[in-house]
Amino acid sequence: MKIRENLNRIKSTLPDHVTLVAVSKTKPIELILEAYEAGQLDMGENKVQEMVDKQSQLPEDIHWHMIGHLQRNKVKYIAPFVHLIHGVDSLKLLAEIDKQAAKNDRIISCLLQIKIASEESKFGMQREEAESLLKSGSLQDFENVRIKGLMGMATFTDDEDVIRKEFCFLKACAESFKPYETENCSFHEISMGMSADYGVAIEEGSTMVRIGSSIFGSRY
Ligand SMILES: *Cc1c(COP(=O)(O)O)cnc(C)c1O
Repeated sequence: MKIRENLNRIKSTLPDHVTLVAVSKTKPIELILEAYEAGQLDMGENKVQEMVDKQSQLPEDIHWHMIGHLQRNKVKYIAPFVHLIHGVDSLKLLAEIDKQAAKNDRIISCLLQIKIASEESKFGMQREEAESLLKSGSLQDFENVRIKGLMGMATFTDDEDVIRKEFCFLKACAESFKPYETENCSFHEISMGMSADYGVAIEEGSTMVRIGSSIFGSRY
């Protein structure tokens, strides 16, 4: 597996304002270390236990991104070290992140996950749900979380027009949420785009792409 070459090839196509999150889920420590040694510091995992195990065995300066669905009762395991939680989809989850962040004397950065795909299976809030959460002012109570932007996952399809529309919708959500920006809440980051669709995502305003198989090989 030519991880360094893959990283360099992908990075050469990314504009400077786009952060590459290397999605290392299911991949062994040795391969993640290979990416790290090639200069990749941002890694994405979607399972709490797996992230905790890997974090304990890998260099301290890796930025761990939780990109999967996060259950409230598991926040405590990642709170000591997690860099960014991409999939925040409820006020209750945010409240728990705030509590665990405070316990660890940290401020934890989060993205609100918006449901942009038409598929039933995808997690996330409806745009209206997110908007009423922002309007409610409840976020102000959370001193130990920082909302940095939005995250979304497009429909699993080959139809580029469908994917483009969904990414465009997420960008529009971020723009429309700007009036709600406060000291601990902004919408600069837009986490969208994976191996198959990150080119389209960047064209539509992505600032953070989550790429797994194009770096580490397919997961079978
Ligand atoms: C697995 C995963 C990715 C990466 O997918 P690839 O197609 O391997 O690039 C990105 N985002 C999320 C939320 C994932 O679960």
